Amino acid sequence: MEYSKLVEVYEQLNKTTKRLEKTHIISEFLREVSADDMEHVMLLLEGRVFSNYDAREIGVASRLMLKSLGVATGISVDKIENEWKKQGDLGLVAEAIVKTKKQATLHSTKLTVKKVFDNLRKLAELKGEGTVERKTQLIAELLTSAKPIESKYIVKTVLGEMRIGVGEGAMRDAIVWAFFGNKIGIKYTREMNDIEVEDREIYNKYADAVQHAYDVTNEFALVAKAAKSKGLEGLGNIGMKVGIPIQVMLALKCDTIEEAFETVGKPAAIEFKYDGFRIQGHKDEKGNIRLFTRRLEDVTAQFPDVVEFIKKNVRGKSFIIDSEAVGYNKKTGKYLPFQNISQRIKRKYDIDKMSQDFPVEVNVFDIINYEGKSMINEEFEKRRKLLEKIIKQEPKKIVLSKSKIVSDKKDVEKLFKDAINAGNEGLMFKSLNAPYKPGARVGYMIKFKQIMETLDLVITGAEWGEGKRAKWMSSYRIACIDESGNFVEIGKASTGLKEKEEEGLSFMEMTKILKPLIISEKGKEVKVKPKIVIEVGYDEIQKSPTYEGGFALRFPRVQGLRQDKGPHEASTLDYVKKLYAGQKKS
Ligand code: ATP
Repeated sequence: MEYSKLVEVYEQLNKTTKRLEKTHIISEFLREVSADDMEHVMLLLEGRVFSNYDAREIGVASRLMLKSLGVATGISVDKIENEWKKQGDLGLVAEAIVKTKKQATLHSTKLTVKKVFDNLRKLAELKGEGTVERKTQLIAELLTSAKPIESKYIVKTVLGEMRIGVGEGAMRDAIVWAFFGNKIGIKYTREMNDIEVEDREIYNKYADAVQHAYDVTNEFALVAKAAKSKGLEGLGNIGMKVGIPIQVMLALKCDTIEEAFETVGKPAAIEFKYDGFRIQGHKDEKGNIRLFTRRLEDVTAQFPDVVEFIKKNVRGKSFIIDSEAVGYNKKTGKYLPFQNISQRIKRKYDIDKMSQDFPVEVNVFDIINYEGKSMINEEFEKRRKLLEKIIKQEPKKIVLSKSKIVSDKKDVEKLFKDAINAGNEGLMFKSLNAPYKPGARVGYMIKFKQIMETLDLVITGAEWGEGKRAKWMSSYRIACIDESGNFVEIGKASTGLKEKEEEGLSFMEMTKILKPLIISEKGKEVKVKPKIVIEVGYDEIQKSPTYEGGFALRFPRVQGLRQDKGPHEASTLDYVKKLYAGQKKS
């Protein structure tokens, strides 16, 4: 398939914010894509060339892109950089300069999706001497054949700045409409921005099949390919594979014990809610162990200690377990809040020292696959019993989550006190006979904490400090996400960070993190790529005419990094509205 076809779709998607229209555009397009091109097209559509859970990255910074643009167009890097400063978007700059160049040379070979995909993948694989030159060549090769509009999207994809504003739900629906639209009898009318469905029940059957295939593979590229080539049966046959992470089951929140029991039923398993981070541990038949975060990032290399615990203490040739890794103080043995160990998640060097300085205990609370058999349709109680059988508990290494079957409020209250005293966040209520529902927040488990909800917000910009803070970015623009996936600012946070590194998350560290993400600078103001998520506390949510979302945080303070969350898992505007409404009641 020609790359220009995909570019046309990017353009159409950029012209609308309407979810149904975007879904329609993608579904029409997918019908035209051959099964062979499907995986490449789907990944590129989302601005990626690797699966979500693949740790590889294209790894090209703006500097290298400037150089490649220079090589491709023969225009000096200084000139291109000046344009970039004026425009603030390297994709647009690429489009403009390739346009002038093209008029002069009139030379072009047609780019295919496969060619673009292959070159971008090669970028990630290059290592060692001469890498910069090779990377420059690979990008320049694409840009020389690209039409102006194509070069815009090549640049954006390489820099990781592609955004089509399509969430998971819309992507799922696009696959359903594309491949099962005739069976469902679906009709979309642009003028009304509405759909008509002949039979909702059948629609739900196909939507569930697509959703389930996604939940166990985490990759719409695979789902679309299966749907296109093998239909409903193909979707059913996409199984969970040990070694490929599955979407974790999420918890609902309740504020009272009564409400929690009402949702999960009585009696329920009550567990400690550990303040660590989620680790999905996989062991395959060959004995390979891989670890994934809740965002499905591969963190095997960062946690050799956890790999060892799983290898030694969990019986079975192959399995997938779900757990929470909790940091503890080496001297006192007491649990530490998540922030203390969060730095281990992204760490690339001194790994062994890190595992000694910031040890974790793995608390296993679920099992998803055992000896090649999916466990997700088994009842929770049965899954827990299996865990009890196969895990050799060793405190400070790997244990089962503390769990008790309870139906009395008083027992829960006592457990809550015990949980808090032991340094935990609260309790989890679990329904005894519920299955494991990947990727869903369905009330099979309930979180019960008694602290003010913080928000997880994305940093979209910052400001350089003054005086002794002049070399640091010391104030951060923070944003939640709206329903189309856009970042909506709701305040500026400048407190909570430390001046000295040893006291916790410091301005210096944050500056180091944000610097490579700078998109543009104007005076003291910096715009950054929306990649970093921070936990933010505040005194109150207020209505605000200054911010486009209509809300602002009063006295926001940075409580730490949320390295385990990606920008699209940040708190939603809808959630902010709910908290605002809740505030007014109390
Ligand atoms: P959410 O997961 O609801 O989006 P969040 O990331 O802030 O929000 P929490 O509010 O901390 O998560 O609640 C759910 C998380 O609690 C789980 O994803 C898991 O990492 C953690 N957790 C701790 N103890 C347990 C347990 N015993 N059983 C299940 N999850 C647990």
